Amino acid sequence: MQNIKLNNGLEIPQLGLGVWKADNGQEAINAVHWALEAGYRHVDTASIYKNEEAVGRALKTASVPRKDVWLTTKIWNDDVRAGRTTTALDEALVRLKTDYIDLLLIHWPVDGYLAAWREMERALTAGKVRAIGVSNFMEEHLTDIVEQGETMPAINQIEYHPYLVQSDAIGYCDTHDIGITAWSPLMQGNFKDEPLFAGIARTYGKSPAQVILRWCLQNDIIAIPKSTNQGRIQENADIFDFELSEEHMIAIDELERGQRFGPDPLDFDF
Ligand code: NAD
Repeated sequence: MQNIKLNNGLEIPQLGLGVWKADNGQEAINAVHWALEAGYRHVDTASIYKNEEAVGRALKTASVPRKDVWLTTKIWNDDVRAGRTTTALDEALVRLKTDYIDLLLIHWPVDGYLAAWREMERALTAGKVRAIGVSNFMEEHLTDIVEQGETMPAINQIEYHPYLVQSDAIGYCDTHDIGITAWSPLMQGNFKDEPLFAGIARTYGKSPAQVILRWCLQNDIIAIPKSTNQGRIQENADIFDFELSEEHMIAIDELERGQRFGPDPLDFDF
């Protein structure tokens, strides 16, 4: 496993398990256990995924100690709008059965995000979270936090894959040393329609999914692919023994076409 150093000095494992849509029961528990067995040390959940209880149960019953696993969760939009970030965090801590979160994110840039950020800064001081960051923040939202907050976000978690590289948001984050986590790095499974990945994968004796995740790593991006299938969880972690050539990196870069599989942070209604 490979780590990335954040602007607060902490090291985050560059590969994590995403658990969106995993059931709040044995499905999420198994996925987390299989991921830890496969070498993952990073799990990404959110209160809106409604599976924090199962993730917490999985971490409690895992053979890997809690302190060795990077746990990310997110404050949902209703809580940000209602000004109840601190309460929402306390509730998440109970569901996750832990007394700290490694990384707490504002899930979407909804009204009230600046006040939420101030509450998160207090949570940082109180030791309830080790790092704070944002998700789906574009330059205009980031500027508010950077100019009016006291703490620089450690991470911006955004949709990122070969069809959508978001150079504007990433350029701003690079300038301010804000790390990038890619959500939907596997294009929500839609990579199968793109023949280039299979062609490159054959060259390295790897799968198309492994090629895309490797492309993320080589671009210094943190990736959190989702799977609840043990074979795929293992496959997605088996990406540290090969390196894509510059030619293949460029060929994948050239696929960019501004295509989203998720909502647009500048035009969403939830
Ligand atoms: P993803 O790009 O990780 O794709 C997941 C899908 O790809 C799986 O359901 C499966 O169908 C397929 N897949 C996974 N591994 C495969 C393999 N080896 N071979 C073939 N198919 C494979 O999509 P995602 O779940 O949208 O994103 C990953 C994670 O990002 C989520 O679970 C969640 O934790 C996070 N996320 C965050 C936000 C946000 O707003 N911050 C939004 C969406 C997702």
